[in-house]
Amino acid sequence: MNHQEKNSVAVIGAGIGGLSAAYDLSQAGRDVTIYEASDHVGGLAAGFKEPHWDWTVERFYHHWFQTDNHILGLIDELDWRDQVLFPRPVSVMYHQGKFYPFDSIPAALMYPGLGWGINKIRFGLVGLYLRLTKNWPPLEKTTVDAWMRQWAGNQVYEQMWHPMMIGKFGEEYASVVNMAWMWARLHVRTTRLGTFLGGFQTFADKFADHLRQMGVTILLKTRIEKIIPEPDGQIALITDDGQSHGFNQVVATTSPGLLAHLAQDLPKSYLNGLLSLESMGAVVMILSLRHQLSREGYYWYNIPKSAGFPFLSLVEHTNFLSPDYFGGDHILYIGDYLPQDHENFDLSQEELQARFVPHLKKFNPYFERDWIKKTWIFRTKYAQPVPLVNHSKNIPDIRTPIPGLYFASMSQVYPWDRGTNFAVEIGRRAAKMMISDKND
Ligand SMILES: Cc1cc2nc3c(=O)[nH]c(=O)nc-3n(C[C@H](O)[C@H](O)[C@H](O)COP(=O)(O)OP(=O)(O)OC[C@H]3O[C@@H](n4cnc5c(N)ncnc54)[C@H](O)[C@@H]3O)c2cc1C
Repeated sequence: MNHQEKNSVAVIGAGIGGLSAAYDLSQAGRDVTIYEASDHVGGLAAGFKEPHWDWTVERFYHHWFQTDNHILGLIDELDWRDQVLFPRPVSVMYHQGKFYPFDSIPAALMYPGLGWGINKIRFGLVGLYLRLTKNWPPLEKTTVDAWMRQWAGNQVYEQMWHPMMIGKFGEEYASVVNMAWMWARLHVRTTRLGTFLGGFQTFADKFADHLRQMGVTILLKTRIEKIIPEPDGQIALITDDGQSHGFNQVVATTSPGLLAHLAQDLPKSYLNGLLSLESMGAVVMILSLRHQLSREGYYWYNIPKSAGFPFLSLVEHTNFLSPDYFGGDHILYIGDYLPQDHENFDLSQEELQARFVPHLKKFNPYFERDWIKKTWIFRTKYAQPVPLVNHSKNIPDIRTPIPGLYFASMSQVYPWDRGTNFAVEIGRRAAKMMISDKND
């Protein structure tokens, strides 16, 4: 085993959480090495670029809210705030074959799906309460289904929230997700949506370059296959070339299931906790088109599965950001959250395209197949943690029972919903613990 110096720390994963942890650990004088399995940094927020595009496109649609203080605060520290844009694209909801804007109070008031009487008032009052209250713990004791039916009423729930819950969590979990999740989602949303000049990948690359200049080593295409506590108190990381590297402290930013697989010396109770956490996967197709699809210029279409679409959302990225950044191409996402055993994880790109593309005429009757220049498909089995009732009791501790091994993932940012903002928060929280534990 290669033993490292006294201050040596490893980060597993170069997603936004891992990069943020590395930033604080390095600032505290630690000698930091990041191990990343893929050939790029950015994790789930990563993007790619065609040769004729100036900007990158995220593999999975991404934007920030104006309330995303952790990531915007980090960007301020790095002095890059002038590279953040906050346009105001239009999101729409489906009602009886048509889409209606639904991203501001006046727009919601005009939405015909709730009628014009008491339902609209109940919808408004419930929304206002959830925006204003900070007291989320009682809400995790009940489900979105039960709470919304009681306070917003059956009709409002079935028209507005149930389709969204089905889309996000499928039939299996839609009625068992707890109400604190919905609170967190509604509490922080803003109508302006943000991105970084050049896209999220540009941000991640710039952040990684900054870390390298600070002295952090980032090893791409280097997968960790085992995490083993050593008798001398070090943590050994076994890489995919069979080498063993010893560190004083290690933080893993992978999914809980993967950590359980990597660190089999964790005590049973912690391992079982990791394995009991549920999550949904995501399958996203990206299309570059010769023409704009939404003639109204809509960015985000919320689509109820019950309306017969084989996907949950259609997002025209170039109605958020100018097609000029993408060599004039119009970029469209077709996305869905799905159970990890769903057939869309196994179907070929051609098969998925054959399922999705005929529906595009419903968004623009003039759409033709030859508008499509190119398609890409991205899939991940770990996309959206599922918080059940009293979920706060199930969150694994950042400090694992193995001394020196820490865990910081999307599954622990609860009650907040996963996002790059909270990846920064949990990465930095883990770093703070590591620094204080080593100083004690
Ligand atoms: C469909 C979708 C839409 C989203 N939309 C938004 C949005 O609009 N706004 C937003 O802010 N967030 C959004 N998110 C969430 C956001 O992408 C995540 O919350 C965030 O990127 C998580 O960062 P992380 O560092 O915790 O984990 P990850 O990004 O998952 O990083 C973990 C890293 O670990 C690496 N890794 C895994 N195993 C190993 C191993 N054995 N060895 C070495 N490396 C390993 C992975 O390759 C990866 O790079 C979205 C996510 C999805 C899936």
